Amino acid sequence: MSAVCLPRTCRLLRQVPRGLPAAMRRHFSLDVAAPLLRTQGFVNGRWVSAASVFPVLDPATGQEIARVADFGPAEAKQAVDAAHEAFQSWKHVTAKERSVVLRKWFDLLMLHRDDLASIITFECGKPIRESLGEISYSASFLEWFSEEARRIYGDIVPPPARDRKILLLKQPIGVASIITPWNFPSAMITRKVGAALAAGCTVVVKPAEDTPLSALALAELAAQAGVPAGVFNVVPCSRDQTPSVGRVLCTDPLVAKISFTGSTNTGKVLLKMAADTVKKASMELGGHAPFIVFDSADVDRAVGGAMASKFRNSGQTCVCSNRFLVQSGIYERFLEKLGRAMDSELRVGHGSEPHTTQGPLINAGAAEKVVQQISDAVSRGAKVLKGGKRLDGSFMEPTLLADVTADMLCTKEETFGPLVPVIRFDTEEEAVAVANASSVGLAGYFYSQDVGQIWRVVEALEVGIVGVNEGLLSTPEATFGGVKQSGLGREGSKYGIDEYLEVKYMCFGGLDP
Ligand code: ADP
Repeated sequence: MSAVCLPRTCRLLRQVPRGLPAAMRRHFSLDVAAPLLRTQGFVNGRWVSAASVFPVLDPATGQEIARVADFGPAEAKQAVDAAHEAFQSWKHVTAKERSVVLRKWFDLLMLHRDDLASIITFECGKPIRESLGEISYSASFLEWFSEEARRIYGDIVPPPARDRKILLLKQPIGVASIITPWNFPSAMITRKVGAALAAGCTVVVKPAEDTPLSALALAELAAQAGVPAGVFNVVPCSRDQTPSVGRVLCTDPLVAKISFTGSTNTGKVLLKMAADTVKKASMELGGHAPFIVFDSADVDRAVGGAMASKFRNSGQTCVCSNRFLVQSGIYERFLEKLGRAMDSELRVGHGSEPHTTQGPLINAGAAEKVVQQISDAVSRGAKVLKGGKRLDGSFMEPTLLADVTADMLCTKEETFGPLVPVIRFDTEEEAVAVANASSVGLAGYFYSQDVGQIWRVVEALEVGIVGVNEGLLSTPEATFGGVKQSGLGREGSKYGIDEYLEVKYMCFGGLDP
């Protein structure tokens, strides 16, 4: 493997960035093994150029770090055709062989973990420690589904008549279009593709325009792992090309399935497009996670959970806590301890600095949205206890707001930034009602030591994922997915593979009783 991946390094950024806070005015560069830095698309096992390119920017500095092939609908169609062709043989590859290939891909991700993490940090701004964590998390889906590939069991069902047998067979659905966001540029791909390939499906991946490099590095390692040509295709494109590429991926009759992670609005657009050809769809859409702290909670543990669930990726994950509900009896204590933890644990900076915990937001618009939520809250009576300001570029001060009420913007819409709005409540019923007053329901968290209350609240919360006295939940062994407008289907776990399978009922009749 190391013979394939030459120890050459490729330095993409040489200039000293401008417009940064003083402490950050230093040289930032993305140095990774050259074969992992791919800028062409990947179709049918080959690297393919396009008529034009689009820039990939370091969100911390605004500097261009690469120019990537800007695919259009024609290239997307070629990828779909290649995936369809490859499906004819991949579906017949034994589960054991598919498992071996996925396992090799997992091994290669872990081998190149440092380089892959650097790519994430430079294209999405994530602190390097978190990027390393994302690569382990991303690889874990390949490992998990390499194991699940061999456990796609059907059923033999007792028949209603003695002259027949009933069998339920599971078969791969076909070509899957995979459309992914920028906030987990690697893991959101493997969580879907691991399941798809394990099931015997082939895929066309359209990564987010902000973060195509991680997807292309995955393609390089897929090829090295022995994923056959056409089984895993990547079609990078700019935001301008996205609607026409998306149309091919969601409407082409050769595509049987779409799987999307991103905003609820975009998910609705894709679902409408897929409806015409009645494609199976998985949707991981927006969240608006409540984080409830009851009087009986262990406050230190709750503060630890709040820090972990709020500030990961500077608040830019769909399971980040978005609304904090704290019961009156411990309201002041929680605010004081959380404020202290924010002071001592959070460091804003370029993601490649080892001590950084808070990188930039993905772009200036994302920072502006947080600023607007803060000023709306303040104009309606909220108090700023920490932070509150936008820094240079798309950096935001981690912000703590007290005296927040349910009529403020920050409690009505997803923030996707480092903002902690805290609402005071008196009763369990009140907290659950506020938590459920949302059109989406992905994750929810609460802290309580009262066993009766724990069961009541777990059952009452309208979410797909619930953390009880725990702020970090995602793992390949468990389901990931939401209720209401947070989406359709589940990823990860033993259920994730079902999203890529059809059940065929075989009635074997005419048997002598
Ligand atoms: P964000 O606003 O944070 O970029 P989106 O939900 O719009 O969130 O983006 C998630 C993914 O969906 C990205 O890969 C983006 O390019 C893609 N996307 C957005 N609009 C479309 C579309 N019309 N067709 C296909 N993909 C789309």
